[in-house]
Amino acid sequence: QAKENGRNQVCFYQAKEGGDNFSSFDLDSEFKQALVEDQLYLVFQPIIDIQSGLVIGGESLIRWEHPKFGNMPPVSFLPELEKGNQIVALDEYVVWTSIQNLKAWHDKWPKHFRSLNVNVSGKGFNSESIMQILESTYHTFPEVLNYLTIELTERSIVANVAETQITMQKIREMGVKLALDDFGTGYSSLSYLHQFKFDVLKIDKSFISNHKADSGENIILEAIVNLANALGIKTTAEGIETAEQLLSMKALGCNSGQGYFLSRPVEKSVFVGILLDGLAVLNQQTDA
Ligand code: C2E
Ligand code: MG
Ligand code: MG
Ligand code: MG
Repeated sequence: QAKENGRNQVCFYQAKEGGDNFSSFDLDSEFKQALVEDQLYLVFQPIIDIQSGLVIGGESLIRWEHPKFGNMPPVSFLPELEKGNQIVALDEYVVWTSIQNLKAWHDKWPKHFRSLNVNVSGKGFNSESIMQILESTYHTFPEVLNYLTIELTERSIVANVAETQITMQKIREMGVKLALDDFGTGYSSLSYLHQFKFDVLKIDKSFISNHKADSGENIILEAIVNLANALGIKTTAEGIETAEQLLSMKALGCNSGQGYFLSRPVEKSVFVGILLDGLAVLNQQTDA
């Protein structure tokens, strides 16, 4: 019931965001406190190879369990953090923690070792501190970076095209893969796909959920997947919520997918179980 309370409190906080009472929630100091008091943690959403049904890894997603406001969804604090530089501290936490997890899983279950995607803001991506974390990993456990994918949005690239391109080059040389997140929602500049040499294109969930066979969306979706295939870029379908959606993404030739139909984001111990045992929903499907 603490969580339910928390949800209400978040609405309260959001409602005030635009108003002059917003300063009563001092995100700046609350976030500093959150870092010190371990209020932040990661959950993980499994990603499957759509064609084979095997779990190939997952995506780290930030969660903030506030002592008073409860579980605050990322949308309630990320945009504010992105206005300043605190987003970089969040990115540091996420990248560092994800790498620690990758290392631990690599040591414990080398045969079940899978890749991990992390979301990084534009500011964080071009920051010295993230580069330092990656470089020190590169010098100590370089193989781990081959299993790390950084997800960027078009919005964060557009903010600083030249610098981002240089950072991408450096990061790529360390073995880290790069994914373009939420494709279809922003500028969707097709030339970016080639110019920035993304390894993966993540097709936004709005495309997946609005998708119907024989619809205009379907034609666009098909064109996106074909274009990515032709450019040698892998595709991931985000927000798969039904068996039908999974099947049509498979038929379209999408490489991988994630979504509530497969699994919601789960806490670490559950995710590790999924890495080892696969997803029950898919096992049932193949059994049937
Ligand atoms: P995203 O990177 O596109 O992540 C996918 C979002 O869709 C997640 O929301 C996930 O819980 C949600 N989702 C997954 N499957 C489904 C589905 O089947 N249906 C629907 N309706 N939603 C689904 P979440 O965790 O609330 O994160 C929202 C956004 O916040 C993320 O979008 C990402 O842009 C940002 N974010 C999350 N974690 C981090 C982080 O650690 N660092 C940074 N910089 N941004 C983050
Ligand atoms: Mg993402
Ligand atoms: Mg996305
Ligand atoms: Mg998104």
